[in-house]
Amino acid sequence: MIVVMQQHCSDEAIEHVMSYLKNHGLSGHLSQGVERTVIGVLGAVGPSGTRTTAGGINPIIAESLEGLPCVEQVIIVSKPYKLASREFHPVNTIVEIPTPCVSEGVVRIGDSAVVVMAGPCTVESEKQLMTTAEAVRKEGAVILRGGAFKPSTSPYGFRGMGEEGLKLLAKARDAFGMAIITEVMTPTDVAMVCEYADILQIGTRNMQNYMLLDEVGRTEKPVLLKRGMAATIEEWLLAAEYVLSQGNPHVILCERGIRTFEKMTRNTMDISAIPVIKRVSHLPIISDPSQGTGHRDLVSAMSLASVAAGADGLLIEVHPNPDEALKDGAQSLTPEQFKRLMPQLQSVSTAIGRTIVTE
Ligand code: PEP
Ligand code: MN
Repeated sequence: MIVVMQQHCSDEAIEHVMSYLKNHGLSGHLSQGVERTVIGVLGAVGPSGTRTTAGGINPIIAESLEGLPCVEQVIIVSKPYKLASREFHPVNTIVEIPTPCVSEGVVRIGDSAVVVMAGPCTVESEKQLMTTAEAVRKEGAVILRGGAFKPSTSPYGFRGMGEEGLKLLAKARDAFGMAIITEVMTPTDVAMVCEYADILQIGTRNMQNYMLLDEVGRTEKPVLLKRGMAATIEEWLLAAEYVLSQGNPHVILCERGIRTFEKMTRNTMDISAIPVIKRVSHLPIISDPSQGTGHRDLVSAMSLASVAAGADGLLIEVHPNPDEALKDGAQSLTPEQFKRLMPQLQSVSTAIGRTIVTE
């Protein structure tokens, strides 16, 4: 349920609605836009973390709310996701990432500028990571990606360097001032990964790992939630809802391609998911054309298409020597290709009235 307040309503009126909700065992989520103030209403959290009413509402309470001062309208939200919906929260969410290499010291994902995150699929060695970080930073990437805990479809694939890899990422951050994004795979690793990462990446294979979603939801770290490879947009937003409903509002969505009957690409990039998300949700959305295509020759085109479609950022795999990569070499750009891509991204951004954050 959403309570829409009248324009220019007083703080007291808002406070009055909030305490009314609290007294009735409901939680109010305030969203103050330039044009209107709305209060999203959810059931209270029960002992096991469940909601007593899943956003559903007692009609008597809805009616009483409509009678409170300055309440313009009460709307029942029919969508199963609430906190992630644009109705609940009309204003775009902007996720701030502390990033020393930019002049403001912070990068804003979901704001007007597009953010480029780049780096190797997987941290393999100090030399590989530092070389890549230096190369991508030089071209304007502000966030460094690199997996230390790698989900692998085959148990025989490289599964990452673990905490050693996280230490190398921290070293790269110190050296280049880039923020770090890295994947966390299990609830028990969340606290440790939080010590090193600026953004926690939830991989496609874990989009519906609800214990993991709960755990990252209990932190204050920005969370990049990849779309499950066979997930509908609604299921993806419900996964985001898990994180949000634990109290962590810093969620960034990432389209990384879905499984279809097509075999010429590793996955099928669902570019249309980008404007769909923009319409139904307030959360920022970025795109990962590396997992999305599986082929480095397709990554630039899909990066440009993603920005043209409204993506707030990109997650791009770059390797100094892709043929030697321990993972995802075929879809990793060479530093040379990345260098050619950046000015093209700048041009597309300019064409749609945006810029790229580079410094
Ligand atoms: C990755 O970013 O390297 C990765 C494993 O991504 P995904 O979870 O989308 O497959
Ligand atoms: Mn990868």
